[in-house]
Amino acid sequence: MTNMDIANPSEEHLMLREMVREWTQENVEPQAHEHDRDEKFNLELLRSMGELGLLGISAPEEYGGAGLDAVACTIVHEELSASDPGFALAYLAHSMLFVNNLAYNGTEEQKARILPKVCSGEWIGAMAMSEPDAGTDVLGLSTNAVQQDDGTWLLNGRKMWITNGCIDEEGTPADVVWVYAKTGEDERGRVQMSTFLVEAGMPGYSVGQKIYDKTGMRASNTAELVFDDCIVPEANLVGDVGQSLLHMMGNLELERLTLAAMALGIGRRALDEMNRYATDRVAFKSPIREFGQIQRYIGESWAKYRAMRAYIYDTANNLTIGTSGQRLDSDGVKLFATTAAKEIADAAMQVMGGDGYVGEYHVERLWRDAKLLEIGGGTLESHQKNITRDLFKDGEAINR
Ligand SMILES: Cc1cc2nc3c(=O)[nH]c(=O)nc-3n(C[C@H](O)[C@H](O)[C@H](O)COP(=O)(O)OP(=O)(O)OC[C@H]3O[C@@H](n4cnc5c(N)ncnc54)[C@H](O)[C@@H]3O)c2cc1C
Repeated sequence: MTNMDIANPSEEHLMLREMVREWTQENVEPQAHEHDRDEKFNLELLRSMGELGLLGISAPEEYGGAGLDAVACTIVHEELSASDPGFALAYLAHSMLFVNNLAYNGTEEQKARILPKVCSGEWIGAMAMSEPDAGTDVLGLSTNAVQQDDGTWLLNGRKMWITNGCIDEEGTPADVVWVYAKTGEDERGRVQMSTFLVEAGMPGYSVGQKIYDKTGMRASNTAELVFDDCIVPEANLVGDVGQSLLHMMGNLELERLTLAAMALGIGRRALDEMNRYATDRVAFKSPIREFGQIQRYIGESWAKYRAMRAYIYDTANNLTIGTSGQRLDSDGVKLFATTAAKEIADAAMQVMGGDGYVGEYHVERLWRDAKLLEIGGGTLESHQKNITRDLFKDGEAINR
């Protein structure tokens, strides 16, 4: 039996990893520190990923996508994040939260019209679920949509924390946003949510503000979006009225897996930095890696990194994009890997002393970026809740 590497299960996956790693070294790494420091999103760099076929990585080839699987998505997010998690987050918001959602849930007309534009990078996409008063409590949303006599929908409300919500410093909105809105209640009084494609230029759609002074992920733009009597054509309703939960649940699994992949990239890079530093740095006439307390940081970080890598790629190999039902592990990997990444980055800062505390040595940026992964796309607490709920329904998952 040959050695098996679940992170590169085929020759194609390995080639993809090598290609993305090389491209990242050449194009992402040199700009990472500056864009974090200046809180600037590198729009042109994201657009250029269209030429590599990565913006529509999971979208069907007939619409300009690459038609690749969950392992491929995981590889790309890991590699980008090992260099620049903020840029990787902007990529995730575009390719996973918008493109993948549309590819798997949109109508034929919507896919034919919009997918080629977002796969090429001509258009930048975003996904708007969170609101100022509703995050974890998704059904507590207040953005609402009412259908008019002429068939169009009137959208009102505000969305908060939207990655790629604006794409520059002038407050230019994303070209297209996947928006969840309340469209009524069902016969049992439960909130009914529907999904709308809001495009730049539609009356009433604007950026409220770009959010500055974030702890991390500063190389991605985060914005508040305003929908003020925004008129959305009937053709921009995704699927049927009230279908949002289906869209959300399927897409969230891939979102959480790829957020965990970002954590893996952070963990890998931080470990690599601390390992090299521990050889080069001499104290008391010895490389610091000879001190038992330093060995504990490195040894424990290696074990955490390998555990997250194994769990993440095991989940990726078993996740079929476009289906739901794998939440136990998509929540599990995000719960474990995000905190592990933060801890590894923290260990790296400790091992690197004063150097670890400044931007030039990268790890303080990774540490700040890692924190967001414990909040965005679902908080740690929401994953704990989901896992416990799923194990109540299917306790046998433990013994399988
Ligand atoms: C940089 C950044 C980028 C983001 N990008 C996007 C994006 O592109 N699109 C988008 O829609 N959203 C985005 N978000 C929003 C993100 O998904 C939310 O911040 C997250 O879901 C948490 O929601 P909240 O901030 O409203 O916190 P809350 O939901 O108010 O949570 C506050 C605290 O209460 C806890 N809590 C809440 N309910 C429970 C419960 N039932 N049991 C136990 N504890 C609970 C939470 O775990 C948390 O600790 C982004 C956020 C940030 C910071």
